[in-house]
Amino acid sequence: MKSEINNLPLYTIGIDIGGSSTQLALVSEKGEVVARGSIERKKAHYDANLYVEELCSSIDQLLTGSDFSKTLLGIGIGAPNGNYYKGTIDSSVNLPWKEELPLTRILQERYQLPVVITNDANATAIGEMMYGAAQGMKEFYLITLGTGIGSGIVSNGKLLYGFDGKAGELGHLVIYPEGRQCGCGRRGCFESYCSARGVVATAIDLLNKHKEVASSLRDIPKESLTSKEIYNVALKGDSIAQETFRVTGEILGATLANLATFSSPEAIILFGGVTKAWHFLETPMRKSFDAHCLFAIHRPKVLRSSLPDADAALLGAAALPLSNRKIVKHEL
Ligand SMILES: [Zn+2]
Repeated sequence: MKSEINNLPLYTIGIDIGGSSTQLALVSEKGEVVARGSIERKKAHYDANLYVEELCSSIDQLLTGSDFSKTLLGIGIGAPNGNYYKGTIDSSVNLPWKEELPLTRILQERYQLPVVITNDANATAIGEMMYGAAQGMKEFYLITLGTGIGSGIVSNGKLLYGFDGKAGELGHLVIYPEGRQCGCGRRGCFESYCSARGVVATAIDLLNKHKEVASSLRDIPKESLTSKEIYNVALKGDSIAQETFRVTGEILGATLANLATFSSPEAIILFGGVTKAWHFLETPMRKSFDAHCLFAIHRPKVLRSSLPDADAALLGAAALPLSNRKIVKHEL
């Protein structure tokens, strides 16, 4: 009987909890999505219990009519402030409920399966390792350049969690001590330059600094300027928009060189909306990276993610129970 079960394909459930919606999927160990579900954010979710009820009925729907439960290995969750050690979602400004939610315990009791949770950037890093650009790698950084900057650090094939589960907040490396105000309350963080918000701030700085230069960015109200719009304008040859990405690429390259100096990874993989402007970012980023890398050490590859945007964190979450078989849990 045991060998029969061993021959069956294994499945996991991946749950990607985001600010505006939750995506969930039944995924094979090869990364194939077999069934999907989603929950849109609603007012009722200010009560975490109601959110959990809706989540459980979505999981039940995924499993309805299938025999997958026999070969279901576990449930993996990526969430803002997902705490791997405690199995909780800690209070996050991006989520409607404000109390600490012990989600792994609730789901373990209900489904009698192993449940693993981590933050969304860590889940994306696992997605890259299992199915994306980091396949076969044991030492790499995944950096998400989105509205903010998230990151997952994999060392010796395992996510780096640190003492309290909060390792890898690379978006808040201070790169300019007297620089721009960051949402974390400090100044000059990497995130305030190389996230989508940082790109917008750089464009506004350049528009103010070069008032004599014509730019169609001046026709867009500053409060509705987006990095996507700046990219579209750059494609049409706008010099301020192109300069915005050149400056962003330079800062990005220098910061990645610092990371390379820290732990000599095999690769740094970039993901997220800002990388859509790769055409403009790549050359200044690589030039700056090469200029700032310490000569003596290995130069890691800098790669773009090969995972589809919408599914990276979901696939990574689904892979957590697979990868977790190799992770030794540390007790605090
Ligand atoms: Zn910060």
